[in-house]
Amino acid sequence: MAFFEGIGKKISQTAQGAIKGTRDLTEVSRLNGQILDEQKAMDSFFLQLGKKYYELHTNSADENFAHFCNSITACIEKIAALKKEVHNIKGMKKCPGCGAEIPIATLYCEVCGCETKNDVTQAEGNAVQAEGNAVQAEGNAVQAEGNAVQAKTPGTCPNCNIALPEHVSFCTGCGHKL
Ligand SMILES: [Zn+2]
Ligand SMILES: [Zn+2]
Repeated sequence: MAFFEGIGKKISQTAQGAIKGTRDLTEVSRLNGQILDEQKAMDSFFLQLGKKYYELHTNSADENFAHFCNSITACIEKIAALKKEVHNIKGMKKCPGCGAEIPIATLYCEVCGCETKNDVTQAEGNAVQAEGNAVQAEGNAVQAEGNAVQAKTPGTCPNCNIALPEHVSFCTGCGHKL
């Protein structure tokens, strides 16, 4: 009897040890999960702290922070330049008024109506001007056609008569509110 009791006790102890091990593993991974969550939250607060400091002190940064602020400013400028390159490749530019992505030849933003030709460089400006003239010529053609059928073509600016896409809120040639 003592022999069987001994085995029984041994099995029971082993089983208990295994359960304890599983419990420990579960507990450890639960705690590790909590540690990760806290680290993520902390990183987020550090990020917000840095952004807040940059917002408030970028022009009056303490010498300990000046390097970071200047580096961030450099990144912002680089990103803006790269975005402009992307816009150029896509034949688009960013409206200085509302930030909408609009065709580079557009003189007035089709979303907010603000003048956008000052946003481009001289070379780009000339291209826009040339394109603008082409649009104007096209507009005159539309005008002539419109007169021929004695009806205003839908999607034409009532102010300068250039042809317009249907979805625009402002004329891309003169900025007239549609
Ligand atoms: Zn705009
Ligand atoms: Zn117009």
